[in-house]
Amino acid sequence: MSITKNLLQIKSTLLSTVTLVAVSKTKPIPDLMEAYDAGQRIFGENKIQEMAEKWEAMPKDIEWHMIGHVQTNKVKFMAPFVNLIHGVDSLKLLEEINKQAKKNNRIIDCLLQIYIAEEETKFGLDEQELNEILTSTTFQEMKNIRIVGLMGMATFTDNQSQIKKEFTHLKSIFDKLLHSTDAINRVSTWQTISMGMSGDYQLAIECGSTMVRIGSSIFGGR
Ligand SMILES: *Cc1c(COP(=O)(O)O)cnc(C)c1O
Repeated sequence: MSITKNLLQIKSTLLSTVTLVAVSKTKPIPDLMEAYDAGQRIFGENKIQEMAEKWEAMPKDIEWHMIGHVQTNKVKFMAPFVNLIHGVDSLKLLEEINKQAKKNNRIIDCLLQIYIAEEETKFGLDEQELNEILTSTTFQEMKNIRIVGLMGMATFTDNQSQIKKEFTHLKSIFDKLLHSTDAINRVSTWQTISMGMSGDYQLAIECGSTMVRIGSSIFGGR
């Protein structure tokens, strides 16, 4: 199947409340342009330099999402244009994003990444660390970032009930914060749960995902 067909097929199954991030990491610009010409405007990349090169070369009405692990010293390269950073997992990183956003006269949207998998290799905060960030004065004083929700990655497994348990866990943390009065005061923009990839996005949506990150099912294997 072509990229256009894949994209339109996936979009036809998504409710209008679910945002599709087309994960284009490692793929060449002509592949991204095919998706663009089919109407896709949100692309996800996991390397800052690769994303910056694509941003420079491609139409300017695209939203660029950073979905990979972010190194603090590279934030400056995406601060002028990035629309959403999915994998924020420390206060130190948030401070750097805030600093670089300020330099660019911007407010940058971020998702806090929660560790939900049973895999040592995945990044993310636990619930306590999340609450520590949200209630810290440092966080509350940052004016150039906006936390719009949470992101998580399930364990890489065929065990559907395991994945479901992990997605449900993320959704419950999101809901708890949505209904809590203290931490959420500053987080009036709490709206996004980024979970679900090619292999598990339908399940993720059943569990409450509002944003899916789909790569190989659109662009083919990497
Ligand atoms: C690569 C990647 C995806 C997309 O994975 P596919 O299985 O190709 O859909 C989604 N999220 C993150 C964080 C990724 O790194």
